[in-house]
Amino acid sequence: MNPLSNLFVLLTGCAVVLRVGGHDLADGPDGHTGAGLSATSAVGATAPVRLPMKVAEAAAGRLKLFGRFGPQVRASTNATHWIVESDGMPDHRMMVGITAWQQQVPLPQPYTGDNAWRIPRLPVPAARPLSAKDHFFRGAIALAVNGVPIFNPIKNDGRTDTFLAGELDEFGGHCGRADDYHYHIAPTHLQERVGAGEPIAVALDGYWIYGFTEPDGSPTGALDGFNGHSTPTLGYHYHATRAYPYLNGGFHGEVVERDGQVDPQPRAAPVRPALPPWRGARITGFDRVRSNAVEEFHLEVKAAGQTHHLRYRLNTNQTVTFESPDGEGRITTETHPMGRVDVRGRNREASGRPRRSRQP
Ligand SMILES: [Zn+2]
Ligand SMILES: [Zn+2]
Repeated sequence: MNPLSNLFVLLTGCAVVLRVGGHDLADGPDGHTGAGLSATSAVGATAPVRLPMKVAEAAAGRLKLFGRFGPQVRASTNATHWIVESDGMPDHRMMVGITAWQQQVPLPQPYTGDNAWRIPRLPVPAARPLSAKDHFFRGAIALAVNGVPIFNPIKNDGRTDTFLAGELDEFGGHCGRADDYHYHIAPTHLQERVGAGEPIAVALDGYWIYGFTEPDGSPTGALDGFNGHSTPTLGYHYHATRAYPYLNGGFHGEVVERDGQVDPQPRAAPVRPALPPWRGARITGFDRVRSNAVEEFHLEVKAAGQTHHLRYRLNTNQTVTFESPDGEGRITTETHPMGRVDVRGRNREASGRPRRSRQP
């Protein structure tokens, strides 16, 4: 199949700038609240840099890159931004390998329309580059080419490395409070999907993130404190590394920080209240099956010498049903309306109480 056939073509040529406020992507284990309202702009007066490749050529190549992951990922461009729509659900298995779990699970997210990703096409070096060591503990700092957001590797206590803490699955991801799946390290597993010469993600300042080596396979040489450097063929770009900062350790380019995150950015849509950590639980299995338009998920969880099975399904009427074990042999069933995002800036949580039943 021609990957370009999956591309969503945006017919309007003007940039839509959204101001969606501060409380965007909720992040589960990073459970930080009360960041306070603050706005820091790293926008300087620097002129835009010219792309090293011809702009049109570069654009087609980049759109093709996202197009490989269609139809869940649809990319288009206008004069100023990449516009990427996705449901945030990768096609690999999720959650397996997590040893510190807050009972969140992956649910599709509405990163579409006015809630799509909008990333600068012509990045501009910041007059005052901001480090992710003391900024951006909330929300995404990059977007993988498979449409999955990437958060700061350090959670928003400002200290804990999510990778070293066992919070991430075998692909470097887990779920936030809105049951939103995201990575916290560079998705280097995507390298073999996109090919050795292609980037695996783009930082929200518009600079691209390449894998462990240069596109020709040669070593990267010295990188700056943000894992970036400039080369004659690519201009400024970031790289993945196996140790912190794993990906862009801040922003070489201009971004606006508001309430501790890059602003604007899409919002995840919660469907249920956040849950507490399940101490000692290990996720050991994941299945995803679609039958008759209903998508069913199964997580195998091991805790205290027992094996538990959490099942949930996406119903055709835009609801999600969870069947959760309570650890004493009973199953709790809850059905919630799927979350929605109000483009005017507030998450619209499911109205009304979930239907709940408990079976012996
Ligand atoms: Zn997270
Ligand atoms: Zn490089």
